Amino acid sequence: MHEDLRAELIKQFSAEVMEVTEQTGKKYYACPTCKRAISRGDTKCPGCNQALSWVNIRQHEERHVGTKTAMLTFEVPGDFVKGNCRKCPLSYITRSNSENIYECPLKMRGSCGLTVS
Ligand SMILES: [Zn+2]
Repeated sequence: MHEDLRAELIKQFSAEVMEVTEQTGKKYYACPTCKRAISRGDTKCPGCNQALSWVNIRQHEERHVGTKTAMLTFEVPGDFVKGNCRKCPLSYITRSNSENIYECPLKMRGSCGLTVS
């Protein structure tokens, strides 16, 4: 089969539209085959005739989910004081400058954020 004809046939199968975010933050929809901008709802790319599908377009959209706060309650020894990594069950031992140190998985060593009650 001739390569051009083959390419034309493949374009008859719809391909998912891409959503492109420019550096300015402006978004536009683009043909996944030729990358040209298309209008929302186009069923065929006006540039290359690629059949377009809009079904899963949302998956391409960037979602800014922000952050949430997670809380975990766990037991510490009775003589634990805030910042005492040695007694903290979260800490793990690692080597720093050929010395064993207690490292905090939450990167709070030296500025412990635990609430002890
Ligand atoms: Zn196209």
